[in-house]
Amino acid sequence: MVTKYWKVDPDRVSDNGGEIVEAAALLRSGDTVAFPTETVYGLGADATNTTAVERIFSAKGRPSDNPLIVHIADAGQLADLVEPTSVTPDHHRLMEAFWPGPLTIVLPVKTGSISSLVTAGLTTVGVRIPDHPVALELLRKAELPIAAPSANSSGRPSPTLASHVREDLDGRIGGIVDGGGTGVGVESTVIQLVEGGLYILRPGGVTAEQLQSTLPAIRIHETEREDVQASETPRAPGMKYTHYAPKGYMHIVYGDDAPAVAAWIQRDIQAAMERGESTGILTFEERASQFEADLVIACGSLAEPETIAQELYAALRKFDQQGIQYIVAEGCPETGIGQAIMNRLRKAAGHRLVRV
Ligand code: AMP
Ligand code: MG
Repeated sequence: MVTKYWKVDPDRVSDNGGEIVEAAALLRSGDTVAFPTETVYGLGADATNTTAVERIFSAKGRPSDNPLIVHIADAGQLADLVEPTSVTPDHHRLMEAFWPGPLTIVLPVKTGSISSLVTAGLTTVGVRIPDHPVALELLRKAELPIAAPSANSSGRPSPTLASHVREDLDGRIGGIVDGGGTGVGVESTVIQLVEGGLYILRPGGVTAEQLQSTLPAIRIHETEREDVQASETPRAPGMKYTHYAPKGYMHIVYGDDAPAVAAWIQRDIQAAMERGESTGILTFEERASQFEADLVIACGSLAEPETIAQELYAALRKFDQQGIQYIVAEGCPETGIGQAIMNRLRKAAGHRLVRV
């Protein structure tokens, strides 16, 4: 398969030379198209067409029990997708505060409205409006709800550049709309409102603090951090899978005593060098100069954690591009966007953590 490629200036989507119209036509014909969003690049297909959705799963090698998020251009489309009576005033408050934006809201799916492959057979569907001019124009032109997971091979770091999509999926998908770098750099926050609480099924671009200030009276549950056993507790499907992983071995080192953490990391890297392994350290601008390894990546600044999120996936891919075998990632504080960053890092490291 030859993958079509269009370059689009995100600041000039309305007067682009028909690229988005062509990409939308490909989606309407049942093919897959990768496109930029404000979080990461998505791999889209018509959510109402089972053959089209199958193409997403086979291109990515994604397990079929991991549901897809449905992307829409405006909240009016929601009535076609979910049970209208299930949308509460709290849901509306969240939509007003965060749409368009990196918040996916899980609601009861309207029977027969989309392919059951999208929901992985669940009775619910996750929906969001992306905050990116290219994504919005493509959704408007396609006039369809578009199912779209991240546009990477399953298990690899998510793509924040069109070149990452090409690296993984060239020749396996219908087309790529290249709109430059994405914004937030990590995926959307996935939430579900249930009687008496809001469950964060996956931390992401919208922080727990932001959700709490929008719904001050609601109790927020962070499913990853709590020992949730109750059977009625919503669980995010797909949590059992390894994600975002570089090819080399990676573990996370963290602790309150920064010099002690740095010393531990450097000793650990030294030992790997003595074993003859190529070594890498994933750290932050404030810390990078104290380390020595084959590849030291300063991934954003601790003073501005948003920059860590923006650069994280590209940094993980760099270790692969240079064939690094042994990687130590320094942990960051788990507040604000730090929750999403550490969630992705833990998965990338196969949950191997060392507390110093
Ligand atoms: P990705 O497409 O790779 O960003 O992954 C989408 C994630 O959204 C899944 O792994 C789930 O954790 C979550 N998700 C999507 N749909 C649902 C749903 N109906 N219920 C709960 N979680 C969902
Ligand atoms: Mg993904």
